[in-house]
Amino acid sequence: MTVHTTVPAKALVLFSGGQDSTVCLAWALSRFDAVETIGFDYGQGHHVELECRLTVLDQLKAAFPDWASKLGPDHVLALNALGAISETALTRDQEIEMGENGLPNTFVPGRNLLFLTYAAALGYRRGASHLVGGMCETDFSGYPDCRNDTLQTLAKALSLGMDREIMIETPLMWIDKAATWAMAETLGGAALTQLIIEDTHTCYRGERTKRHEWGYGCGTCPACELRANGYANWQKG
Ligand code: ZN
Repeated sequence: MTVHTTVPAKALVLFSGGQDSTVCLAWALSRFDAVETIGFDYGQGHHVELECRLTVLDQLKAAFPDWASKLGPDHVLALNALGAISETALTRDQEIEMGENGLPNTFVPGRNLLFLTYAAALGYRRGASHLVGGMCETDFSGYPDCRNDTLQTLAKALSLGMDREIMIETPLMWIDKAATWAMAETLGGAALTQLIIEDTHTCYRGERTKRHEWGYGCGTCPACELRANGYANWQKG
């Protein structure tokens, strides 16, 4: 990682209000001098995630004053075109299923390439050369745009295209969901893991009325199952 001696290092975190991106945000706040957040509104169908992300930001600032002093503006970009392109369960009211290619039908081809490219453009204007995202090969190996090779190749293309070094940091790339809970505990103790349980949102169905020990969600969609299993494995140690 390049550490500038004169200009403080700033990171822009792709922040959805979910568990993974909240851990990434805590990771960035523990490492960088300044951190800003970016979210994308692409007609997700339910706006639960976008509401949760504001709650998480407020709760993080309240619980961690040292982090609050580093946390700059939150940015939300509308990407309506993405909703128009995709025929998926996230943007349309249909069941989440696994396709023959092993990918859930929530898969939006190349979505993370678009998100990171927008983030890089915004980051350029904001002076943030580090982009931080919760992409992970361990749990989502079916998503080709979450793979390390994909992302580091994109970082190279963005650096060339913007004539400035852009670094894509993925702290969760090689760890599973249990280790993600453990990372949260290391970064912010029980205050952070409780915040993640109460305020982050992962459920594909936008369910926030059913409370489980691992948080809110329908409990049966792939995202809930992953979160619940990870929590159970973390608890087992
Ligand atoms: Zn769910």
